[in-house]
Amino acid sequence: MSIHYYSTNRNLINVSGITPFTGLVSFKEALLTGQASDEGLFVPDSIPQLSLADIHALKDKPYRSTALLVAQAFLADEFSADVLDSVVRDAYNFPVPLEEVYPQTFIMRLDQGPTASFKDFAARMMARLMSHCRPQGERLNILVATSGDTGSAVGDAFRGVSGIDVTILYPVLEVSLRQKKQLDTIGGNVQALSIHGKFDDCQNLVKQAFSDPELTKFNLTSANSINFGRILPQIIYYVYAYAQLASAGEQMVFSVPSGNFGNALGCEYARRMGLPVARLIMPTNENDEFPDYLKTGIYQKVSPSRACISNAMNVGHPSNLARFFELYGGTVDRSGLVHLYPDLAEMRRHIFSVSITDEKTRKTIKNTYESYGAILEQHGAVGWAGLEVYKNLTADTHLAVSLETAHPAKFPEEIEKLLGFIPELPASMKGIDGRQGRAIVMANNFPDFKNYLQNNLKIKE
Ligand SMILES: *Cc1c(COP(=O)(O)O)cnc(C)c1O
Repeated sequence: MSIHYYSTNRNLINVSGITPFTGLVSFKEALLTGQASDEGLFVPDSIPQLSLADIHALKDKPYRSTALLVAQAFLADEFSADVLDSVVRDAYNFPVPLEEVYPQTFIMRLDQGPTASFKDFAARMMARLMSHCRPQGERLNILVATSGDTGSAVGDAFRGVSGIDVTILYPVLEVSLRQKKQLDTIGGNVQALSIHGKFDDCQNLVKQAFSDPELTKFNLTSANSINFGRILPQIIYYVYAYAQLASAGEQMVFSVPSGNFGNALGCEYARRMGLPVARLIMPTNENDEFPDYLKTGIYQKVSPSRACISNAMNVGHPSNLARFFELYGGTVDRSGLVHLYPDLAEMRRHIFSVSITDEKTRKTIKNTYESYGAILEQHGAVGWAGLEVYKNLTADTHLAVSLETAHPAKFPEEIEKLLGFIPELPASMKGIDGRQGRAIVMANNFPDFKNYLQNNLKIKE
């Protein structure tokens, strides 16, 4: 049975400004277009099942074995086993530590990839899948606007991937020196443009390029975070953790520090594929729209979003909430307007959420280090604090895994203030300060940008 993808906005027939997309697309189409024409998110129309026997058979096997099992479950119709095998081998060449903090309770470190962020997991697999579905003999040109971290994870993920070139636009005045260095020096098929403007200006330049008919010959595509190609890889590490840690049929709890909810959505799909997940814990920072919704049944986005120290989670209306609502029978659009509420009782049965203040986050970093010797940065600390709240409230004793989503060495100021030392960079990030590269500096002006694209992008392989 093949899986197709539909839009979360397909039922919004009487909503002004939305023309619902009611069709179905293949995974490849969803991957290359990113989102549906009605600005809804693509969702699979059926969810493949994994047997417990297949999952337990992954114990003590390398990460790529789990990756292959999950990838095949979704993609066997559209990619050969050989292609999928080479994609996951090439994408996952770094460790995925499961660190025991105290009995039955673990931290899964998703911070060992090339940019020391869990986003490496999704971006690296998506990049390699894209390379295998571009038109024969042609190039794909990815355009990304970034305010910092996502750009380097995406840029790095595509480095050296054949048939694809990447152009990253970043606002020169809004990124840190470290981030600028990261973006400027990726090299190879990845070029950074340093735009004299704000993040919104970068996004607008990219949007204009996508709708310019003179640029369509370049096969322009995006690699944004709502692409289903970035959700699928985020199912894998839940299955991996379960296979390594759980005994036959045991139930497990995961705590996932959440911003746009893409990471947590991976766990939701893993459960629906058959993984015995007792509860998905989705702690947020002070952007508390989702825990508030679970409490009150009324959804109200936080606007503008609140600036917390876990800044990759400063989201007042999570983009993947549309997929969560869809999975529980509801509909919410991109602006945060709810058209149909989901089954709240069912959601509460499977999901727990709590808002963690910055003060609590800092205390958690200090306490987990002092009590257990475990080093967390601010995003992972939100996850851990949420797990503690949940355990105190429910006395749940299931095997539990909390996710660390970035490496503590990426936040030297905060960690040094709390712990008195700066953790070492992971092997993958060492030497970054000495990397050479160049940014092309450009005014915030579409004709200049278009001119650059026409003179520099390639069409043929
Ligand atoms: C992006 C990010 C998150 C949030 O993940 P979502 O999938 O958006 O919920 C958490 N921590 C870090 C370090 C991130 O970069």
